[in-house]
Amino acid sequence: MSGVSVTKAAEDAAPAGDDLVVLSNVNKHFGALHVLQDIDLTIASGEVVVVIGPSGSGKSTLCRTINRLETIDSGAISIDGKPLPQEGKELARLRADVGMVFQSFNLFAHKTVLENVMLGQVKVRGTDKKVAEEKARNLLDRVGVGVQADKYPAQLSGGQQQRVAIARALAMDPKVMLFDEPTSALDPEMINEVLEVMQQLAREGMTMVVVTHEMGFARSAANRVVFMADGKIVEEATPDQFFSNPRSDRAKDFLSKIL
Ligand code: ADP
Ligand code: MG
Repeated sequence: MSGVSVTKAAEDAAPAGDDLVVLSNVNKHFGALHVLQDIDLTIASGEVVVVIGPSGSGKSTLCRTINRLETIDSGAISIDGKPLPQEGKELARLRADVGMVFQSFNLFAHKTVLENVMLGQVKVRGTDKKVAEEKARNLLDRVGVGVQADKYPAQLSGGQQQRVAIARALAMDPKVMLFDEPTSALDPEMINEVLEVMQQLAREGMTMVVVTHEMGFARSAANRVVFMADGKIVEEATPDQFFSNPRSDRAKDFLSKIL
């Protein structure tokens, strides 16, 4: 408690970590489509940012630029103070630092659950197989699918597969986790089991960027809501502010349709 006043601490609902992910004036086109327009976004270590907005507004593209699955046309992105590398080993390491969980779970179908969670550790991090296995088993236990370790992905439910995908990303000790609509492909009864794992991660202090339509999750887990429309960040606010008092017409219109 080194000199932090009580009022200041109370004001700061969001963890006051260092800037971990910084996007400065990022622009990206797909042909004539200006899909990301002058994006400025800074995410502090330990912060949970929920990105919402209409379909086609650029949310997935935003996520994909952060781990360099998409290049940008101008501007800059840095992770933990380092600019995004362009290629090669550095890029592989960056991808390991930035865990990503997609709508479609993207597990390797011909590898077991355990192998899926071991693979990146061994191949990218160069971790010893025994160590990687132990870590994989621990993580699978943590997300509640430890008993499924020796099965193949197709033998698991969608909710279980998505939790494996989260464990696989965590196995790389990422600095930040990106979730792009992680529950959108799930049957309704499986959504909560995935959201609960994400809630737990958030409580443990993981830095997270979450694209989701799950407003309950946004309300309870997010430090900040970023509202995107037409390739722009239109509004940023705390969940309370955003849901009770959206400032922009675009956000009001969007919320009126989904709430
Ligand atoms: P969101 O995730 O918010 O729905 P996306 O980032 O997926 O939005 O897409 C934003 C816009 O960019 C959409 O109009 C989409 O059709 C377009 N788009 C996305 N990926 C590509 C691509 N690889 N090539 C061309 N257009 C794309
Ligand atoms: Mg999307």
